[in-house]
Amino acid sequence: MKGRCFAVIAAGGVGTRMGLPYPKQLARLGATTVIDRSVDLFRGWCERIVVAVPPGMERRFELELGPDVSIVAGGDTRGRSVYLGFRALGSVADEDLIVAHDAARPFWDSSDVRSALALAWEVGAVIYARGVTDTVKEVDGCGDVNRTVPRSRIFLAQTPQIVRGDVLKGVYDALDWDDPKVWDFTDEAGLLERFSKRVRVFPSRGSNTKITYREDLTMMNTRMRIGHGYDVHRYDDSRPLYLCGVEIPEGPGLLGHSDADVALHAIMDALLGAAGWGDIGRWFPDSDSRFQGIRSTALLREVVERLALEGLSVGNLDVTLVAETPRLAPHIDRMRKELGGALNVEPAVVNIKATTTEGLGFVGARQGMAAHAVVLLLG
Ligand code: MG
Repeated sequence: MKGRCFAVIAAGGVGTRMGLPYPKQLARLGATTVIDRSVDLFRGWCERIVVAVPPGMERRFELELGPDVSIVAGGDTRGRSVYLGFRALGSVADEDLIVAHDAARPFWDSSDVRSALALAWEVGAVIYARGVTDTVKEVDGCGDVNRTVPRSRIFLAQTPQIVRGDVLKGVYDALDWDDPKVWDFTDEAGLLERFSKRVRVFPSRGSNTKITYREDLTMMNTRMRIGHGYDVHRYDDSRPLYLCGVEIPEGPGLLGHSDADVALHAIMDALLGAAGWGDIGRWFPDSDSRFQGIRSTALLREVVERLALEGLSVGNLDVTLVAETPRLAPHIDRMRKELGGALNVEPAVVNIKATTTEGLGFVGARQGMAAHAVVLLLG
């Protein structure tokens, strides 16, 4: 491969399907935006990056992307936008490669791009594409199945689409500009096929998803954070036993500054851990008389409210209670309901298990009880 690489990113769509007041390319994606992440894929190995944007929004994209990227006003179709981007590249040599990409595919895995470039240079054009795993049916106008299409030969075209300079220039030169159907294609390969140019499929790694609907962004913007909590309390026969906010009449109770609900303490530590907020000792110190004898459910509600303010909610929770006595199985359903209420989630996402330690250790010696909790926070 002798030529240089140029990227043309089609960002001219206004994305009406997203229902956003601005183009989806500018939507937030984690700490960045869709367009910034897409452009970043081409930094470092493309000599120039041109982004074709909705006309009138050039300045907005310039500010978003910085001075190393050239912005041009796009056209009314994707093909025209890529053409305008291509023109903005200036002089393109026959052996250069033009890499066209959709701004809405920020998750392209570029780890194998060297092979794709070498192949495009050899063949003339290469498109990233995904094979299909579902059975493919061809139907008639009513939707009745005509036949099953062999899926080994079916690929869904994606981007990048990489075309050698001489091939792309040849095609643009040969276009009949007076033909109203001249831009009637949805990807560069479609244009090349019209001129019987050779185009080779290059299987994508991963899904290389195109962001189309608002839900696509919601899914991708969801943070997932895992936390773990562990607590132990010593038995105290003189006190009531509370576990997961539920009073267990059989007892024995547990010794502690609060109600000594060992399960809720482990759960709170898991929640605070997932949020990166330390532990309950820091939040509710046992040196503070306000927490003397307090029901831990009240403390849990405070933690959950704070999480909600940060946009964090419980995805699911798994608790393991470790005790020789009392028998906990009959109380687990009540505990799940109580916890679901305190956490503002369906009881179905709360799991509680009880185990013993086969007579071993402090639990086996019936000195106390332990609890583990693992939680997934979403937000
Ligand atoms: Mg505790």
